[in-house]
Amino acid sequence: MARHPVTSFALGTVGRDQAPMTERAVKKYDYIIIGAGSAGSVLADRLSADGRSQVLIVESGGMDRSPYIHLPVGYGRLFYDTRWNYCLNAEPQEALNGRVDYWPRGHVVGGSGSINAMVYCRGLPHDFEDWEAAGAKGWNWQSVRATYDRIETRVAPDGSKSGSGALYVSDVSARIHPLNRHYFKGLQELQLPITANMNGDQPEGGGIYQINTRNGRRWSSARAHLHPALKRANVTLRTRSRVARVLFEGTRAMGIELRHRGGREVVHGREIILSAGAVHSPGLLQRSGIGPGALLQSLGIPVIVANDNVGGNLQDHQAVSYYYRATERSLNNDLAPLWGKVKAALHYALTRKGPLSLSVNQSGGFLRSSPDLPYADQQIYFNPVTYTVTGYGKRTVINPDPFPGFILCAQTARPSARGRIDIRATDIDAAPAIMPNSLSTEKDRAAAIAGGRLVERLISAPALARLVEAPMGPDVRGMSDEDILADCRARSGTVYHPVSTCRMGASAETAVLDSECRVFGTTGLRVIDASSFPNITSGNTNAPTMMLAHRAADLILAQGSTRA
Ligand SMILES: Cc1cc2nc3c(=O)[nH]c(=O)nc-3n(C[C@H](O)[C@H](O)[C@H](O)COP(=O)(O)OP(=O)(O)OC[C@H]3O[C@@H](n4cnc5c(N)ncnc54)[C@H](O)[C@@H]3O)c2cc1C
Repeated sequence: MARHPVTSFALGTVGRDQAPMTERAVKKYDYIIIGAGSAGSVLADRLSADGRSQVLIVESGGMDRSPYIHLPVGYGRLFYDTRWNYCLNAEPQEALNGRVDYWPRGHVVGGSGSINAMVYCRGLPHDFEDWEAAGAKGWNWQSVRATYDRIETRVAPDGSKSGSGALYVSDVSARIHPLNRHYFKGLQELQLPITANMNGDQPEGGGIYQINTRNGRRWSSARAHLHPALKRANVTLRTRSRVARVLFEGTRAMGIELRHRGGREVVHGREIILSAGAVHSPGLLQRSGIGPGALLQSLGIPVIVANDNVGGNLQDHQAVSYYYRATERSLNNDLAPLWGKVKAALHYALTRKGPLSLSVNQSGGFLRSSPDLPYADQQIYFNPVTYTVTGYGKRTVINPDPFPGFILCAQTARPSARGRIDIRATDIDAAPAIMPNSLSTEKDRAAAIAGGRLVERLISAPALARLVEAPMGPDVRGMSDEDILADCRARSGTVYHPVSTCRMGASAETAVLDSECRVFGTTGLRVIDASSFPNITSGNTNAPTMMLAHRAADLILAQGSTRA
């Protein structure tokens, strides 16, 4: 890492962006949080709880008012909707036959946590042992488990609660679709492990996904944390305000420049925290002068700290789904016909229960594709529903198919591929270049084949074989290893879990942040969101992101120094 301190940062224009600057006489905030998503919402709550620290949270999207955000099954409506979603695309990937993968990201208060599928997975213990081994001191399983225990309220099927955290985690095992029973019978027939609690002491095995809902409504981090915090006088939320960059005096972050309604403003803060997510936080650092030196110079951005890891180390989960017509009724029968929709809507309106109150991801779990592996290498989804395919060749969850069907899906739990996300222009509205590099390692190609083989075993187990009327697309049964890999290249896609683009680690040689999420080479600047993960966790990334924000808040509140 090379450092190029500057004595002051001129408040000029950035690149082609010529919007007029209004430096308002604003109060100086103690904390400015950029992004009101899963992590930012936690931070606004925790850092303002003392009632004294002045907290500003700035969100590029609007308020989380849409009823589709709060209705769990509304997921399908938000998936391609630019009102709530950045609707990005990755670069064409050679290993995926040059295909362009669709990357939804939440652009609304609550961030991706307002548009996600609500599956709540803490991750497997060894994921966090690896965090600490990567140089993130103190982020081992024992300490992060204590944080999880503290932040959750777990709601059992009978409605009884344990824990006292703001984050509600619902066990919906009594309410999932009956079709799921065939998946569990299949696991038994194959003598594969089953767990009653994927977030418990024995997380490995087939199981039912717990979800972030409360009384049948999505319970995002914004609902759990930000909205209650907004009742405090010392918290200010600015929506539809996009931060263009962080401003520095030398290497000390001293404020932000934001865009609102065509104008530009400067706001000063004692500490600046980026929580813009794994796709946008690295871009914000890069536009602010912290990132790969050659890239910044090529765009004419003055370099404050040169660090190639900003935007690097991108990790994500890539999955392939197999679609089958079913011999018995599935969720499709409940949700596809008009009368089914009306019935489900009435059920929901009267009881806050029924299919509209659930995620489409109902069961699955963490399994080993081979018993001699030390850890579960695959995450499985069994969804009692199939969806219409759009003209782009992508899945859409807007309309279930008009016949019974189900999906079996495998994703490599801990891929080894490393990609990048970089800005391509200084223009703050320009979409970033997302280069996931999926299936680029031999290890990941082998794991993808192993995942396909595991799905083949499952679908061939008598209980599931009986459920198959016909495959709706490529059928993993009878595929050679080469066929499975070719199918992954042709059809696999992200399951929207990008992490690690500003990761924590031992030094700037391999990372962007120290173990307290402070940006190496700067003062007064942290990144706290999914980009801070030292490595991807085996499962869905929302729970670990919220846990990370809580633990980072503990660290901020415990000490005053912000020097990395
Ligand atoms: C379609 C989808 C389904 C998913 N399903 C699941 C699931 O079922 N379970 C699970 O665990 N995970 C799931 N995830 C992933 C999970 O939601 C994310 O890992 C998590 O929300 C990341 O949190 P974050 O705080 O890092 O970023 P986000 O929650 O994305 O928040 C970032 C926020 O920053 C704002 N922002 C960005 N740039 C700026 C700027 N310049 N100025 C101001 N604001 C800015 C954004 O608008 C956004 O609100 C899913 C994600 C998607 C997209």
